[in-house]
Amino acid sequence: MKTITFPDGASVPALGQGTWMMAEDHARRAEEIAALREGLALGLTLIDTAEMYADGESERLVGEAIAGARDEVFLVSKAYPQNASRDRLPRACEASLARLGTDRIDLYLLHWRGRVPLSETIEAMERLVAAGKILRWGVSNLDTDDMDELVGSGGQSCQTDQILYNLTRRGPEYDLLPWLDRHHMPVMAYSPVEQGRLVAHRDLLRMAEERDATPARVALAWLLARDGVIPIPKAGTVAHVRDNRAALDMTLSEAELRRLDAIFPPPSGPEPLAML
Ligand code: NAP
Repeated sequence: MKTITFPDGASVPALGQGTWMMAEDHARRAEEIAALREGLALGLTLIDTAEMYADGESERLVGEAIAGARDEVFLVSKAYPQNASRDRLPRACEASLARLGTDRIDLYLLHWRGRVPLSETIEAMERLVAAGKILRWGVSNLDTDDMDELVGSGGQSCQTDQILYNLTRRGPEYDLLPWLDRHHMPVMAYSPVEQGRLVAHRDLLRMAEERDATPARVALAWLLARDGVIPIPKAGTVAHVRDNRAALDMTLSEAELRRLDAIFPPPSGPEPLAML
């Protein structure tokens, strides 16, 4: 399976599993846990969650899904910006650890930039690393100028930027992705099937049919064809997890990549980073 390496040398499968909107509906809980476990069984061992999701219930659900298999999982969680201060980050982290039922988070992210100075968040993150509560840290939804400021404020050990990136959101290709590449930081691509909207895209459906695949698989295969990109689709059913896993085995031809460029053109100039 294709893997991606973070600047500190840690390696993860190139395709992860998202969990936003999980644990919102009790009736779907068992199915969502089964989906995450199927993903683990298929090698999708990176799981992305956040204290925000379902008000902490997503972390609890992840904790249940990975119980007994913690060492096989690369766990990613995120702190609210208002919790990213010297005083509050340790408490937010402890609360996430308790909900996740673990003693460490593999990668802890600042969910988006708020009022706490980046230099303070960096210090708080480094303290958590020193305490063994988290193994590494990164950020989310930071644009190129924020990344410059982060690195200029002592944040050289940041491991990733998790951003909105998919066929319909190619803005980051203009400057943010080259910036991350220069700093050897992989990008985590969130909403890789545009929250499900891409699976109904007519042109993508036609391309998928020609390959006896699905639009989700094509959208993920396109992201996986790029260097240093970790898509983290959220799949709430076993069937969707299996479909997404199959994207790792799908290679798009040069002609198909050109066709996708024509349908979803790359940016011709700088665009502010979008977020959902
Ligand atoms: P997404 O993964 O692009 O889309 C999820 C939707 O697509 C769900 O409705 C899911 O349906 C459907 N889907 C997934 N696989 C499918 C398949 N093979 N065929 C058909 N439908 C499929 O959107 P997302 O959840 O917004 O993003 C993914 C993850 O990124 C999140 O879960 C979260 O972990 C992370 N995220 C981070 C941020 C941030 O600010 N850092 C923001 C947004 C998301 P089912 O549930 O029915 O399977």
